[in-house]
Amino acid sequence: MKYSQLLIPTLKETPKDAEVVSHQLMVRAGMIRKVAAGLYSYLPLGLRVIRKFEAIVREEMNQSGAQEVFLPSVIPGELWQESGRWDHYGKELLRIKDRHGNEFCYGPTHEEVITDLVRQTIRSYRELPVNLYQIQTKFRDEIRPRFGLMRGREFTMKDAYSFHTSWESLDTTYDAMRDTYNAIFNRCGLKFKMVQADSGAIGGNFSAEFMVLAQTGEDAIICCASCGYAANVEAAELVGPEHPKSQVIPVAEAIETPGKKSVAQVSEFLNILPSGVLKTMVYQADGQTVLVVLPGDREVNEIKLKKVLKCETVGLVDPAEVAKKLPGNHPGYIGPVGIITVPIILDRSVLNNTPYVVGGNAVGIHLQNTVVGRDFSAQTVADVVNAAAGDQCSHCDTGVYEIHRGIETGHIFKLGTKYSEAMSCTYTAEDGTPQPMVMGCYGIGIGRTVAAAIEQNHDNAGIVWPSALAPFQVSIIVTNGTDPGFIEVGNQLYSQLSGKFDVLLDDRTESAGIKFKDNDLIGIPYQIIIGKKWAEDQKVEIKTRKTKHIELLSLDQVTDYLAALT
Ligand code: ATP
Ligand code: MG
Repeated sequence: MKYSQLLIPTLKETPKDAEVVSHQLMVRAGMIRKVAAGLYSYLPLGLRVIRKFEAIVREEMNQSGAQEVFLPSVIPGELWQESGRWDHYGKELLRIKDRHGNEFCYGPTHEEVITDLVRQTIRSYRELPVNLYQIQTKFRDEIRPRFGLMRGREFTMKDAYSFHTSWESLDTTYDAMRDTYNAIFNRCGLKFKMVQADSGAIGGNFSAEFMVLAQTGEDAIICCASCGYAANVEAAELVGPEHPKSQVIPVAEAIETPGKKSVAQVSEFLNILPSGVLKTMVYQADGQTVLVVLPGDREVNEIKLKKVLKCETVGLVDPAEVAKKLPGNHPGYIGPVGIITVPIILDRSVLNNTPYVVGGNAVGIHLQNTVVGRDFSAQTVADVVNAAAGDQCSHCDTGVYEIHRGIETGHIFKLGTKYSEAMSCTYTAEDGTPQPMVMGCYGIGIGRTVAAAIEQNHDNAGIVWPSALAPFQVSIIVTNGTDPGFIEVGNQLYSQLSGKFDVLLDDRTESAGIKFKDNDLIGIPYQIIIGKKWAEDQKVEIKTRKTKHIELLSLDQVTDYLAALT
């Protein structure tokens, strides 16, 4: 393609609203433009990259035996009512009405539609298993759309759903999808990790996420270098503590801690470690107030908390509301001693037979030497905190956890019969009885993966595309776009390379400097420069974008040189 005919509106300035480098570079490279929060138009260059990634996904999915379908993005509310999610999915679900007042939603995911399709079309155990996928637009009214395509409201997802007669059969397809995802992300040249995940609102018993490693990733990943266990921090398990033996601890006493509200302030004031202070957090769980008590150096893991409380929603109570929920108590000074009106959830890592400082339930007062069981007790003791770097690994005896950051680009779930039972998606078994199908589902964020690839592959000059995702593999830069001799060589090379490689001919009349900058910004892996060296001794320069290495070649050497590299 000719650069002069393409819409590639590159920018020198970094857009103000773009916080992460992938978002900045996608806008600066003329790949995307914002329409509204979380909504983007894909321009020719952006779309080429998206299509390249989709082609890889499609090839690998087809290779695994999955079949491509295409489902509507607007879904009747009735299907979501049947599955039970209409009332539970929350505000991410964009609900709309048609002219007759019928309710619909814009699909954030497609379990309901695919289950409805399969229950209409598959009857017998002989027709199973089947794995159906689509590459399609989703809409989720995300609370904080940000980072460009990374967390959009409208975005493209590859979603696949498999249907089985047994869990064993599901295991086979789940493993095949795991291998397929590994192949897809490897082909893109990405550094990634597969980690144990929480199954979240979609449900099911088991799931894994594919995390592209990047400092800017929204997810924290726990890894054990010793045994290889890796999990999203949301799901990472913690080993229970070893409690010290019984010992004599002085009676609890109140101490004045004027103005010291946070763990950091209290521990500094009393000259003790933050782990010696217990935090008491006031939560609202499905409308009920609960107190969560945990060591001062830990963070509450709301996903674990939700599971422990078996509730749909948990959220911190606004400090201004605390006095209303717990009459007489004051934010910053709340503690578990003497609380009888609300249930207390105690994190499992709080030690028995150990003195702690806790809030004194009065302004400017804490209590020291309080002991679990002696001075306060809890309705529930459970693992409700995030794992942290240095914690002992829950899967081996020797390892400790490290923390990395990642971008979740893929997710595979074992759903079981959650949807098939709710929606009567049954098959006739060999013995003639109707049985619910066992299901799995498998997603990849298309735009998010492209953005993650940029997070991992860029430098000061712009994007450094991995070859498989580059919008063009090779560009031919005619440094003097008005010199007939240069133009002729450019055209000659263009026809020599077209068909063998994805080639961009930069035939613009812009200055050489602008062309070099633009080609680096949009990240073309190999740039053939027709410039001074051509004028001097009929050689072109081939620059490798990533290493900046330059090779001088005559025209007849160019094809073989590139073929060996791409
Ligand atoms: P997250 O925790 O990041 O919100 P999720 O668990 O909601 O992700 P899934 O429902 O598993 O995501 O969706 C499958 C894939 O779709 C994700 O792995 C991700 O790559 C992509 N994805 C999810 N939400 C978005 C979004 N708002 N914008 C772009 N891609 C997304
Ligand atoms: Mg989400």
